[in-house]
Amino acid sequence: MQYPDWVWHNGAIKPWAEATTHVMAHALNYGSSVFEGIRSYETARGPVIFRLGDHTRRLFASARIYEMEIPYTVDEINAACREVLRRNRLTRGYLRPLAYRGLGGFGLSADTPIDVAVAAWQMGAYLGEGVLEQGIDACVSSWQRFAPNTIPSGAKAGGNYLSGQLIAREARRLGFGEGIALASTGLLSEGAGENLFLVFDGALHTAPVSAALLNGITRNTLMTLARDAGIDVVERDLPREYLYLCDEVFMCGTAAEITPIRSVDGRQVGAGKAGPVTRRLQELFFGLFDGRTPDKYGWLDPVDA
Ligand code: PMP
Repeated sequence: MQYPDWVWHNGAIKPWAEATTHVMAHALNYGSSVFEGIRSYETARGPVIFRLGDHTRRLFASARIYEMEIPYTVDEINAACREVLRRNRLTRGYLRPLAYRGLGGFGLSADTPIDVAVAAWQMGAYLGEGVLEQGIDACVSSWQRFAPNTIPSGAKAGGNYLSGQLIAREARRLGFGEGIALASTGLLSEGAGENLFLVFDGALHTAPVSAALLNGITRNTLMTLARDAGIDVVERDLPREYLYLCDEVFMCGTAAEITPIRSVDGRQVGAGKAGPVTRRLQELFFGLFDGRTPDKYGWLDPVDA
């Protein structure tokens, strides 16, 4: 990975190599961090950050769940995101705001200082080159998601990604592009780091947030774009076998964007390539950046605001 030059850390821009933390930081020992993943895109109006305000709000919501008081305002974090993109001259940037319990107290309930960083780097398709067109082969993981009364899936916290690592690593080890997890109920939840949509008879189906999943901003974006385009959207319990019966499946997320799934557990989905609803949503989504889809919800935030 090619590291960029600059990182925002605790209120100042620093060279990448100097944005460090102590080995005894609480977060490193106990997973006590919350973060976001945000993308920037080039548009005819200049570079934009996609749904910056919604991501920053979710960062603060995640922190609130864990009683972490971020010592900056939403506006300060938004400004840091813009500055990191500008300084590093990123065109297709992936921003990583991160708030974590630092050094200064031991024990699980310690009120350590909250350190905050915003890093960014250049990032293409997350699940590999060409996957947005070709799709990936996915499998249902042998690992389930955490039950709702254990670790809240509504927080985007570092510790949650122990679950994601088990799911993603198992999938890669077995030769799949990504793993899909069931919730502790046995019903479909989401991908290791992506939300999941199934298509039946032209309608989008996705599991509700109670199925141990992250309430994704891309998920919300696609549900909104689909409804506006007259595509029915249904949030419902989904049993595993629907993966084998539906016409199309895709994953979505900030990093994964809209990644078609061509097979699940070795069984071909639909025609084994991106189906018409998946392609329509890709057009609508990427159309936001090339101007084919009007930005009627004000989702595009100019980097040079
Ligand atoms: N689920 C998980 C577990 C994730 O890590 C992500 C990526 N943040 C998503 C879903 C998709 O969320 P978003 O669209 O907000 O990036």
